[in-house]
Parts: sequence; C-alpha cells; structure tokens
Amino acid sequence: AKSDGGNTGRFYDTGLQDEIRLKRRLGRDLETAIENDQCYVVFQPIATSAMRIVGYEALLRWRHPELGEIAPSQFIPIAESTGWIGTIGRWMADRALAAAATWRSDLTLSLNLSPLQFRDADLVDTLLGLAERRGIAPDRLAFEVTESATLLGHHRDTVLAMLRRLQDAGARIVMDDFGTGHSSLSNLKDFRFDALKIDRSFVAAMLVDQPSASIIRATIGLGRSLGAVIVAEGVEQQRQLDVLREWGCDQVQGYLIGRPARDVAAGARRSRRDAL
Ligand code: C2E
Ligand code: CA
Ligand code: CA
Ligand code: CA
Repeated sequence: AKSDGGNTGRFYDTGLQDEIRLKRRLGRDLETAIENDQCYVVFQPIATSAMRIVGYEALLRWRHPELGEIAPSQFIPIAESTGWIGTIGRWMADRALAAAATWRSDLTLSLNLSPLQFRDADLVDTLLGLAERRGIAPDRLAFEVTESATLLGHHRDTVLAMLRRLQDAGARIVMDDFGTGHSSLSNLKDFRFDALKIDRSFVAAMLVDQPSASIIRATIGLGRSLGAVIVAEGVEQQRQLDVLREWGCDQVQGYLIGRPARDVAAGARRSRRDAL
C-alpha cells in the first residue's frame, strides 16, 4: 500500500509537471501564432426563434503546427495569464470586422471580450476605431461578456463605464453564459445588459430536467421585464427549439441552426445592390 501511494504520488506529479510544461509551451507558441498564420476566425449564426438569421458570433480558432487544433477553452485562459489576450483580442476583432464588412448590413457581429481585456484603458477606443476603419456602424456590434467581467472587484466601476461607452456608441452588451456565474441578479441591477444568453448547460438539460426548464422560463420572464433580449445557446434538437419558441425565447444559437464555420451562409453576404 505504501509503494502504491508513492507511485500514485509520482504519477500525479509527472502529470502535473507535463501539464505545466504544456501550458508554458502553448503560452510561448501563442505569441507567434498570429504572425505564423495559425489563428483564424469562425462564425456561428444567431437566429430568431422563427429561424431567421440575425447575425453571427465570431469564435477564435488556433491550429498548432504540431499539436493540431487547440480548443479556445484551453488557450484563452493561457492567453489571459500571459497577457497576450490583448493582442489576440485586437487581431480577432479586426479579422471579424473585416468579414462582417462583406455581410448584409442588417446582420450583427458578436464578439467575446475576456474580462482581462478591460484592464486596457484604450479597449473601447480601440474597438470603435477598428469598427470605423472597417466601415461597421457600432449598432451592428454586440459584445459578449461573462459574469467574471462584472466581478473584477475594484475594477467593477471601470468595467461598467467601459460597457456604458460601448452602449452609448450604439453597441449591445450581452451577458454570456447566464446562470453559471455567482451574482447574476445584482449584476442585472447595475449593468444594463441588452441581452442575456442562457448557458447551454440549461438548454442541454431542459427537456429532461425540471429545474433547468424552470430556470429558462424564469430567465425569459426576467429578460422580458428588464427589456433584454433572451438568447438560448447550445440548441441542438428541433424539440428544444420548438419548446423555447413556445416559452417566448427571442433568439437561438446552436448546432441545429448552424455550426461555427469559416464562411457565413450565401444569403448572408452583401449583394451588389446592398453595397451601393
Ligand atoms: P462561448 O462564448 O460560450 O461560445 C459558445 C461555445 O459553444 C463555442 O465553443 C461554440 O462552438 C459552442 N457551441 C455552439 N453551439 C453549440 C451546440 O449546439 N452544442 C455544443 N455542444 N456546443 C456548441 P468554442 O468555440 O470552443 O469556444 C469556447 C469558449 O471560448 C467560448 O464560449 C468563449 O468563452 C471562448 N472564446 C472563443 N473565442 C473567443 C474569442 O475570440 N475571445 C474570447 N475572449 N473568448 C473566446
Ligand atoms: Ca459567447
Ligand atoms: Ca456562452
Ligand atoms: Ca462559455
């Protein structure tokens, strides 16, 4: 038993060390990923619950030359801890804006903002400047933030002011992964979110789990009384869509509507007439 314990300990240490080594390597490699053309942007449609596409969410991808596709859930936290998130966030926003300039002008572009990006006092000017350069009116933009962005302690007021400035310019602010944070309701009081995005864990369970169904229905009611649009993410089944529509959910996103892809639907592209 004693030697078993020792082996387990060594095994665990090795695993942990490998993980630390991998994170260090990814952190280093990430700094040259953009210039080496390893990063790209994919777009996932967001539709009304009647299935009319209203816009696309931009999602970042990284194809590592040796390790293959690295999930954003793995490399975004690394970029946050190395401070590289600012650079990658700017690059990402510019790429997504350039793509959106080729879309029908009624379609919105949703961008995810990491809480760490709010440490950059120039964030709002940078984003609005990039949009202007690409000819995208701010009212076509939505910025998705998770609740961790609203929990930056003494930075809370700064984040609040930055989000207000984006809103004043015409952009929408979306609370992402709604329901998974720690103080959703007090955040709703101080931050005027234009939309709440129900986390996909609730959608995945809604047809089989009564509490998940209740939380979604209550969120839809809450959104309505706050004047916020409700988006459900992770919609994979027709039945989920039908029930969400019946419950009054405004917008939906998920594999049923469309997977993230490098190209948007042909109908989403700007026609020559639209360009005039
Ligand atoms: P998120 O913002 O909540 O994005 C939704 C995630 O759910 C995406 O994963 C998307 O591909 C996935 N998804 C969409 N529909 C379905 C579905 O029907 N079923 C399932 N199972 N999954 C679905 P992805 O692209 O791997 O991104 C994961 C997270 O990484 C994002 O979560 C976001 O927090 C972060 N992320 C991605 N791109 C960026 C970025 O450019 N900047 C920042 N700051 N974060 C990003
Ligand atoms: Ca998002
Ligand atoms: Ca989400
Ligand atoms: Ca998420």
